[in-house]
Amino acid sequence: MQKYVSSRNKNEYVSAAQAIINGLSPDGGLYTPVSLGKGPDPSELAGKSYQDIAKVVIASVFNEFSKEEISACVDAAYDSKFDDSRIVPLRDYSSGSIMELWHGPTSAFKDLALTILPHLLTLSYRKTGESKTVAILTATSGDTGKAALSGFADVPDTDITVFYPRDGVSKVQQLQMQTARGSNVEVVAVEGNFDDCQRMVKEACSSANVLGACNGVTISSANSINIGRLVPQIVYYYSAYAELLNKGIIHKGNYVNFSVPTGNFGDILAGFMAKQLGLPVGRLICASNSNNVLTDFINSGTYDAGRPFYTTISPSMDILVSSNLERLLFMMSGDDHMVSSLMKELKDKGSYTVSSTLLKEIQNSFAAYWCSEEECRAEIAKMFSKENILIDPHTAVAAFAADKYRKESGDERPMVVLSTASPYKFSKNVLGCISGDVPENEFLCMERLKELSGLSIPEGLAELESLPVRFTKSIAKDKGIVFIADKMERLSRIRQEENR
Ligand SMILES: *Cc1c(COP(=O)(O)O)cnc(C)c1O
Repeated sequence: MQKYVSSRNKNEYVSAAQAIINGLSPDGGLYTPVSLGKGPDPSELAGKSYQDIAKVVIASVFNEFSKEEISACVDAAYDSKFDDSRIVPLRDYSSGSIMELWHGPTSAFKDLALTILPHLLTLSYRKTGESKTVAILTATSGDTGKAALSGFADVPDTDITVFYPRDGVSKVQQLQMQTARGSNVEVVAVEGNFDDCQRMVKEACSSANVLGACNGVTISSANSINIGRLVPQIVYYYSAYAELLNKGIIHKGNYVNFSVPTGNFGDILAGFMAKQLGLPVGRLICASNSNNVLTDFINSGTYDAGRPFYTTISPSMDILVSSNLERLLFMMSGDDHMVSSLMKELKDKGSYTVSSTLLKEIQNSFAAYWCSEEECRAEIAKMFSKENILIDPHTAVAAFAADKYRKESGDERPMVVLSTASPYKFSKNVLGCISGDVPENEFLCMERLKELSGLSIPEGLAELESLPVRFTKSIAKDKGIVFIADKMERLSRIRQEENR
C-alpha cells in the first residue's frame, strides 16, 4: 500500500486517507508518496472515456482504496455538472492541441480536482473512523475559491472558509465567490495578495492558538498542497495522451510535451507525476506571467521571491511563493533535510539556491518561459484571428510559452497546451484583445464575446448577474490567525452540542 511522508520529514509515514484529511503535514511539509510505482499502460486507455481513465489512474496511485470506492468517487464527480460529455475535450490547432479543462461547474480547471476531493475526503474519513467536523481553509488566487465552495457546499461534517486577495481577483471571480450557495460556506476578502492568504492558511494549520481551539474539529485544506487534489489532476495528462493515440497523431511510446500556465505549481506537478508513473511525457513547459519567479528558478537554480508583485490579467497565476515546488524538490532529491533548510531560507531570507545536480535534473523535465501583458494580449488576438479559437489570458500565457519553447529548442514533438479557464471568466480583458468596443459592464462583455465567437456562455457565469451577494466581509492580513481561531472555537462548540 502506498505510504506518504512529509517533504520535511521522511521518517514518519501516514496513509493516503490521513494525508487527505490533514492536507498539510503538522511540520509544515507537503505529503508526498514514498514511491509512485507504475501507472497504467497508456496504449490500453486509447478510446476509453474520461471516467474510465480516471478510475484506472487514480486507483493506481491511491491503492489503499478499493477499485469500487474510487469508481464511486469518479462517477459522482465527473457527470452532468460538466457541460461537455467528454469532460476534458482536446481541440487541435495549427501547432498542437489545446486541452480544455474548463467545462466544469465553475469554468476553471480547478473543478477537475475539486469536484472529486469532497468524495475522496468523505471516503478517507470513513476509513479512519473519526467523527469530527473537517474545517477546510482555502486560500485562492481566484479560481480555487469558487471551485472549492461549489464542491463542498452542504457536504455533511465539513465547513469551508475561503480567503481571497481583495483587489487581486477578476470581477467575475469575486462575484462567483460572493454569491456562493450552501449553509457551511464562508468567504472572506483579505487586504493583501495571494501569498498573504496562503501564508495565513499555512500558519493556521500549525498555530497553537488555532489548534487549541479545535476540539472536535480537524483543519484541512482544499489547496493543491492537499495530495487529494493533486492526484485527480494526473488523469488529464493520460486522457490527452490516449486521445492523441486514438487520433493517430502519435504512436505507442511517442513523447508528448505539455505547456502549463503555472501559479502554485500544482497542475504542472501532476504532469510530472504522470511522467513518473510511466506516461511518455517529454518536456513540461512552465509558463508564467510577469510574476516570473519560476522562470528564473528553472533557468538559474535560484528561487528569489524578493521582487515586485504584479497584478496581471491572468490573476490565478499572480503568485510569488509556489507551494508545490517543495514537493518537486523532495520527489527529485528524496532529501528531507535539504528541503527543510531551503524552505527555512525562503522564509527567513526570501530566497534559496539548489545544487547544480538538482538543477540539471529539474531542467531535464522542465523548461520555463514567461509572457508579458502585451504578449499575452497579442496571443489572444492571434489565436482568435488565425485559429478562430477564443482563449482566456492564462491559456494565452501557455500558448505563447509553447511557441517560444518550440522556436528556441527546435523540439518538434507534439505539444498539448493546457487551457485552464473559460474566456468568459475574463470577458472584459479578452474582449479588449479582439475588439475595440468594450462595454463597462462585464455581462455585456460576455454577450459581445458570444456574438463574435459563437461560443456559448457557461450557465454558472450567466446566472451571476441575478444572484444575491452573500459575503462582503474583509479583514486585514495580520488578523487572519485570530479570525481562524475564533471560527474554530465556534465550530467546536457546534460539534460538541451535536455529539452530546
Ligand atoms: C489555478 C490556476 C492556474 C495555476 O495552476 P497551479 O496549479 O496553481 O499552478 C492557472 N490557470 C488558471 C485559470 C487557474 O485557475
